[in-house]
Amino acid sequence: MKIVVIKFGGTSVGSINRIKKVAEIIAKYKKNKYKVVVVSSAMSGVTNDLVKKSEKISDDFDKTEYDTLVSAGEQISCSLIAGRLNHIGYVSKSMMAWQIPIQTDDNFRNANINNINIRKIINYLKIGGVPIIAGFQGVTKNGRITTLGRGGSDYSAIVLAKSLKAIKCIIYTDVIGVMTTDPKINNKAKKIKVISYEEMLEMSSLGSKVMQSNSVQDARLNRIDVIVKSSFSKNSGTLITKRKNIINNKVITGISVTKNDAKVTLVGVVDKPGVAASIFKPLYINNINVDMVVQNISADGHKTDITFTINSKDLNKTQNLLKFNKNVKYNKILFDREVSKVSIIGVGMITTPGVTFRMFQSLSKKKINILAISTSEIKISVLIKRKHIRKAVVSLHREFKLDQ
Ligand code: ADP
Ligand code: ASP
Ligand code: MG
Repeated sequence: MKIVVIKFGGTSVGSINRIKKVAEIIAKYKKNKYKVVVVSSAMSGVTNDLVKKSEKISDDFDKTEYDTLVSAGEQISCSLIAGRLNHIGYVSKSMMAWQIPIQTDDNFRNANINNINIRKIINYLKIGGVPIIAGFQGVTKNGRITTLGRGGSDYSAIVLAKSLKAIKCIIYTDVIGVMTTDPKINNKAKKIKVISYEEMLEMSSLGSKVMQSNSVQDARLNRIDVIVKSSFSKNSGTLITKRKNIINNKVITGISVTKNDAKVTLVGVVDKPGVAASIFKPLYINNINVDMVVQNISADGHKTDITFTINSKDLNKTQNLLKFNKNVKYNKILFDREVSKVSIIGVGMITTPGVTFRMFQSLSKKKINILAISTSEIKISVLIKRKHIRKAVVSLHREFKLDQ
């Protein structure tokens, strides 16, 4: 069977007119004799609205009820798409994750898919039907609804493509493909024609939400080629694939930005072996992820400053954990919510000297102070004041010739 999995994001199904347009796109694949499996997200804004409602009910909303609530938006968009396809003469029906089932672990809010029972989907394809599958949703062994993390319908689509041995997996979204940076931050952003899994994974986990990072990891592990393209305009989009399929002469492939970091500095920490472990152990026990860490060497050998970043949603909890940590002695704690991480990503930097220097020089010319740094083989991230994001991205984009 020539199966294609096509996924539509929130903006692509954001209105009745958009849903009619999506039905036409699906119909084109049918006319080209494909067996089409559709995955849809909720209409744009709906999931956010449900999240807000849960916050108004309780600041500690039960996580199992949270997933039942926030997964509801996908039911609406899927039935509207199926209804429209029926209207224009196609056999189609919506399928919620629990009906298939798409089985996950019980890590509510951020569940991982363990298995998809493809039998009902295959049977439906055999009779010529177009299943419209709810993205973002799963179900536990005990029958409780789960969700796959924000943006998780990309992940649904990729695991479905793997399970169904689809020949194509296409992610339809509101941009023409994966761009050199978020076009909402820099209008000079250019489409990347082909990108490696590794670079895409770094970009997604460093803030480029065009693809959810779990989904990229799954595509990489299973060697599934993914096409990201627009449901609004005709463009061939971006191919995400193996590194060896790519010829790229750019040093940097893309620039990503996060907007949810917070910086914590402990000033005047007694400098002795084991002190960093004493600071980070309670954070680890409480599932708080620490990202960048900087420790200044103390001039006198007795006291030091330790700076680290966390997700800003964890800031209040971190403040309390540090205040009540009797194992660490320091003079004061400083917090900053107004910071952001800007990262340059590209396999080209492995073989090109001077990339770090060019990044720092470019930021310094714009008088942007670097608060922390972290690197890996294919990325360099710096922490800066959030108000400087646009200036930083524009200057780095130009420095690494991504404008061209
Ligand atoms: P969907 O609802 O289709 O899943 P998302 O809003 O999750 O769409 O992702 C698309 C958005 O990602 C774009 O509108 C764009 O603003 C943002 N974005 C961030 N970084 C990039 C990038 N490097 N390339 C393309 N889009 C990006
Ligand atoms: N509707 C979900 C969200 O807003 C899933 C998705 O968009 O992929 O996070
Ligand atoms: Mg998305």
